[in-house]
Amino acid sequence: MFITVPRLSRVLQLTLAVIKPDAVAHPLILETLHEKILENNFIIVRRKDLIWKKENSEMFYAEHSGRFFYQRLVEFMSSGPMRAYVLARDDAIHHWREMMGPTKVFKARHTAPDTIRGQFGLTDTRNTTHGSDSVESAHTEINFFFPDFCIGRWMEE
Ligand code: ADP
Repeated sequence: MFITVPRLSRVLQLTLAVIKPDAVAHPLILETLHEKILENNFIIVRRKDLIWKKENSEMFYAEHSGRFFYQRLVEFMSSGPMRAYVLARDDAIHHWREMMGPTKVFKARHTAPDTIRGQFGLTDTRNTTHGSDSVESAHTEINFFFPDFCIGRWMEE
């Protein structure tokens, strides 16, 4: 008798998670967030500490160019070290975004105090974390942060 075992990559979804400079500046917060990732059954597929130039920041957030907070966001995201992860688990995109909480910190603190932004967010811009919001953006964003990581090959493994 044969038992069919699905390939891991058919069960697992990938997402990009970023710990923004406000949190990386605090080693205890960074450590707490790393623990949260593990406690929530994510597999850490890749991890990288990096500092963006302003151009990287402008490119990544180009969809927001023209919004009132764009310059503030671009400056902030290139103001210090960040940590990026490629994470895998079932429903990874949705799960990480649930853990992040609402974009705006007032809302996060008042409606979702147990989320990462509810606990650690400082302002609407300095809101601790980023997460991809769709399969397409996860692929684009993983490629942006980890150009050497071949998603297609990982999916086939
Ligand atoms: P999310 O990061 O929750 O997916 P968006 O894609 O809408 O949210 O925005 C990208 C980032 O831009 C946010 O995480 C935050 O840092 C910043 N931002 C969004 N909206 C505002 C705002 N109204 N005021 C200041 N910064 C903002």
